[in-house]
Amino acid sequence: MITHSAEHRNIMSGPESELQKRLKGIQWQNGNCLSCIWFATKDPLNADLLDRAKCIHPKLKIYQLVVSGRDWCNLYEEIKMKQIEHKQELALKAEEKSG
Ligand code: SF4
Repeated sequence: MITHSAEHRNIMSGPESELQKRLKGIQWQNGNCLSCIWFATKDPLNADLLDRAKCIHPKLKIYQLVVSGRDWCNLYEEIKMKQIEHKQELALKAEEKSG
């Protein structure tokens, strides 16, 4: 009985229970490369978490990193809706020209 309640505590309120780890994994997706201003996707109309693109952060640019939409780093800066719309407008115009 003592063992059982100890295990129970561990699962529900331990410092890093499996459940908490999983929840963290979900929250982390709010602040990943896909929604970072330095994620240089070539296809802003269809970009998703599995997309791969160069990271053009001034400090990281020299490494020519290619990251995926679900990667993350501590230099993350959230892109504004206006900036997304601007990128999408440019992509649409380019599509119209080539199509
Ligand atoms: S690696 Fe960092 S700076 Fe680069 S796009 Fe991802 S979160 Fe942004």
